[in-house]
Amino acid sequence: MQTIVLRNETDWDGWRRVTRGLILAGVAPQTLAWTIGGEATDATAGSGSFQVPRELVSLAALAIQAREADRFGLLYGLFWRLHQGEKLLGGDPDRDLATVRRMALAVRADAHRMRTHMRYLAVQEGGAARFVGWFEPAHFVLAANAQLIVRRFPDLALSIVTPDGAAHWDRRELRFGSGLRQVADDGALRAWWEAEHETLLRAAVPGVSVPEAEALDEIPRPPDRAPLGPVVLHPKSDPALRDSANEAAGCQRCPLYEPATQTVFGEGPADAVALFVGEQPGDQEDTIGRPFVGPAGQIMDRAMEEAGLDRRMVYVTNAVKHFKFSQRGKRRIHQTPEVPEIQACKFWLDVERVHLRPRLVVLMGGSAARAGLGRSVTISRERGRPMRAPDGQAVFVTVHPSYLLRIPDAAAKAREYEAFVRDLGAIKALIAAEDRV
Ligand code: SF4
Repeated sequence: MQTIVLRNETDWDGWRRVTRGLILAGVAPQTLAWTIGGEATDATAGSGSFQVPRELVSLAALAIQAREADRFGLLYGLFWRLHQGEKLLGGDPDRDLATVRRMALAVRADAHRMRTHMRYLAVQEGGAARFVGWFEPAHFVLAANAQLIVRRFPDLALSIVTPDGAAHWDRRELRFGSGLRQVADDGALRAWWEAEHETLLRAAVPGVSVPEAEALDEIPRPPDRAPLGPVVLHPKSDPALRDSANEAAGCQRCPLYEPATQTVFGEGPADAVALFVGEQPGDQEDTIGRPFVGPAGQIMDRAMEEAGLDRRMVYVTNAVKHFKFSQRGKRRIHQTPEVPEIQACKFWLDVERVHLRPRLVVLMGGSAARAGLGRSVTISRERGRPMRAPDGQAVFVTVHPSYLLRIPDAAAKAREYEAFVRDLGAIKALIAAEDRV
């Protein structure tokens, strides 16, 4: 057995170099063990190159950031089989490829969460501000995402702190150093930063090898829009909401829990200004366990950004917390939840609302509107204007972002998208108005 040493958890360059050399030298996957740290393996074995489809390279660039310890060997095995002439893409379903796809999806969702949910403390540094954000990623997404974040805010001094390490940007260079295991609240983060920052910044080093950042930047920014600035707040932790999420994980109040993978509870800061409610988790959300990380969530994020509404200030959830679908072959086809299912799950929506006490509840689509208003709603007739729920809660009805994805005609799609952005603009104004009351 030959042990291959990589420099760090996301040593993409090292993994690629070693993989190319060893595959060309004919070294079979089962003879290799992969490890991190120490002196990196010098890959001088085989020479030359071989072709790998771009799709597989992109998948590997994401999957290498997954926390699963066997990912390096798994990816090597796929590239090895490709070199042996196997047709991996477009052929029969392949278990290893499916695992890599799942890893890539989870990394993409985690990266997305990091970029859209992280908020920052402003600290003083030599008369100027530095923005310090803390985030606990599920995967090793810090390095690649730090590149994207500093590209968005090149003129700000930033530090992104995670349990795996920290990235520091001083407007010229991105450097990496040690992180912080746990943060109880804003005060703890500030105290830690004040006590440690000089040592941390001195010890940070440049040059962490990461996958191409472009492979992760799945949400195109509208070219004429300036990026939103960092939100100078740190999410308050809310133990009661966390306890409710844990409790909902075992919910059997209606039959939808049975075929679904997991309960997908809401997500967002405990001091969120608005509660956005969709219908139910989709296929990707069900797999990953987080709301609005699939295509509908991405179009919603883009529209929010265009409307100047910061996603990090809102809590997103669904009227129904389990994915309802019918199985057609290998595909899981979305099914609209029935009224009794919406009513059963209203229990959890109420729990979220009681904990959050949002200024505004945004009901996106018919199922959310039924849950929020307790009656059937024609979206086209009632969208776009402020209303009150029977209990007095300020609400606003609009379309569900997945509706935009289903419009086949490009011109109609663009029109509906603009109308959605307008609704979000109105929501932004309403949130500000509720604040003044
Ligand atoms: S859909 Fe809602 S009520 Fe039904 S089992 Fe899931 S969490 Fe419980």
